[in-house]
Amino acid sequence: MSEYVPAPLRRAIRQRANQHCEYCLIHEDDVLLSHEPDHIIATKHGGKTSEANLAWTCFLCNRAKGSDIASIDPETNEIVRLFSPRSEAWETHFDLQSNANVLGKTPIGRATVALLKLNRVPQVEIRRTLMDAGLYPPLDDSSMSDESL
Ligand SMILES: [Zn+2]
Repeated sequence: MSEYVPAPLRRAIRQRANQHCEYCLIHEDDVLLSHEPDHIIATKHGGKTSEANLAWTCFLCNRAKGSDIASIDPETNEIVRLFSPRSEAWETHFDLQSNANVLGKTPIGRATVALLKLNRVPQVEIRRTLMDAGLYPPLDDSSMSDESL
């Protein structure tokens, strides 16, 4: 959830993500509602307000995630933790399909896609339009994980 994040830290998180949501990869210029910092591990679970625990997220992903840190893999019904943009590469858990749907490739990926509702029709339609215009997904050189910093 959105809690107070000091402006310099907020700027650093935003810049590190190249202004893209670190869950659905949408650029902040391509949506109406502002992107915001997400505590990957919510403060109520002991997560810190630090670069290592913050992700830049679109409003919809952040609202769907809330303070959750785990969910159910819809394929196995097992409880699994959610994707962490700080410690894992997006491509490890997700595939972007040609129809702009995000496919969860792993239990973590499937649970995250389901909980964050990454394939809501309006979001998929926006992504498909951006794909057609060559504006989505972001280029591979965008730093979507700490590994590329
Ligand atoms: Zn998003």
